[in-house]
Amino acid sequence: MSETQILFGILVLIYLSDCVTWIGNSSVLFYVDLVSHWAHRSSSPLGNQKGGIFPLNPLPWSQAVMAYWTPISLSPVGISSFTEQNPDRSSSSNPTCLTLHYSDIAKTSSDGKKLRVNGQHFANCDSATRATSLADLINRLGSMQEEDRTRELRRYYRSTLDSSAAAERFDLVQRCVDPVRFYAFVLFFMLFVAAPALSAAIGFVTILLPTIAIIVGVTVVISISFFRAHKELYPANSTERFSNTLKMLLCPPVAIRAPDLLTLESMAHFHPLLVSFVLSRKSGTFMEAVIRDLLNPLKLGHENLVTEWHLSENRTAIEEFLTRHLPEEVQRASMPPSWDRISKSYCPRCLTQFSHPSGHCSDCRGVALISTPPS
Ligand SMILES: [Zn+2]
Repeated sequence: MSETQILFGILVLIYLSDCVTWIGNSSVLFYVDLVSHWAHRSSSPLGNQKGGIFPLNPLPWSQAVMAYWTPISLSPVGISSFTEQNPDRSSSSNPTCLTLHYSDIAKTSSDGKKLRVNGQHFANCDSATRATSLADLINRLGSMQEEDRTRELRRYYRSTLDSSAAAERFDLVQRCVDPVRFYAFVLFFMLFVAAPALSAAIGFVTILLPTIAIIVGVTVVISISFFRAHKELYPANSTERFSNTLKMLLCPPVAIRAPDLLTLESMAHFHPLLVSFVLSRKSGTFMEAVIRDLLNPLKLGHENLVTEWHLSENRTAIEEFLTRHLPEEVQRASMPPSWDRISKSYCPRCLTQFSHPSGHCSDCRGVALISTPPS
């Protein structure tokens, strides 16, 4: 193998190592598939009990957006590290539940994707953006009276399901990312198509200096465009902005993935149901699974005043959203599965069918089976 081929191989490996993302237990990845439809993934086999890595489309015009289930329960009296709603959770993954009253909380902060209360680990948020905004919210709630907390939390829940705000945010993201995506495509073409082809045709030494000049020039343009777009989309995340810009300037293949760095966290504030609605406007198995989980939550034995208040308020906000935008999906999610004519009951959460007429689902703890009508 020639030195040119080895160099090209190293660049490809560096680039491909950036074409993956981590899907945590409270994350849902929305991405454009090979036929230009929005698809979703909420788990990956390549990982551990906390989540897994998932390969993104290596072509620079791909799009990917991450959404997050609320990792904690919030109420006017306190916070809990457990939350009921997560349609991807099974009874076997039973997270721990730590509940604190506001009088017990001196300070809440974020440490990367982790939420820390009084300096101790409290919950994993799967997202640094999410961890920071939740830490700010809890600190704000801690300085309020109980009545004001109720108002603030209701306003917060409704803001995560505000379809106009989400659509506006997504339009802004597209406007900011489009120029970065264009230059990323130019760099991708130069590095992985034009440079190898010209090298084979007229020689590596002949094209070396002009190619380096073009690659450095385009990388600088991407880095500047990324910096500006990031400042517009994430004004508070200056540390991440500087570190990513520096990485791009030092390693041009990283700059090709700049659009992902801008889009992945861009909708982190909004509920996954709303993100799915804004991206595809279509019903599908994802929306129906979310609705079935909402109507039939697991009973994992962590129910207390905080988690119950959170579930009830969150559910009210989601039901308002569904009534306004997705009434047909609610109807469809409440329908029984296609009947196999042998089973005598089914689980309303996961739609598994059972041969006995009553009881509880073996996969969804605490969810009572529904008997099927006699045929
Ligand atoms: Zn079930």
